[in-house]
Amino acid sequence: MELPDFNKAAYFTKRTLDDRAGETTGEIVLWRMKGEEEFKYIMDCPFCKEHSECESIVFEKKPYKFRCPACDKIIRIGKLKESIKKRRLADKKKAEAAKTE
Ligand SMILES: [Zn+2]
Repeated sequence: MELPDFNKAAYFTKRTLDDRAGETTGEIVLWRMKGEEEFKYIMDCPFCKEHSECESIVFEKKPYKFRCPACDKIIRIGKLKESIKKRRLADKKKAEAAKTE
């Protein structure tokens, strides 16, 4: 599946996805074109590592979530702010760990 023309997308996000231990092991690109109800995504599942693509999925409300078609685990698209905050925290921890070594 091709990535969309960003100018024609009403929504577009690319996120890293974490497994249950909080390790970033997957990634998703999710988008919706202008004038369409359905979203499309390309994902590498953080749980089973399977690559999957979906041409049509409808989300009722945020936070967007759905099940991985391969392993049936729930994939949750959290708020972008939360994911940035989490990444900063992880970077900070890494920096502190490097200092104490
Ligand atoms: Zn999976």
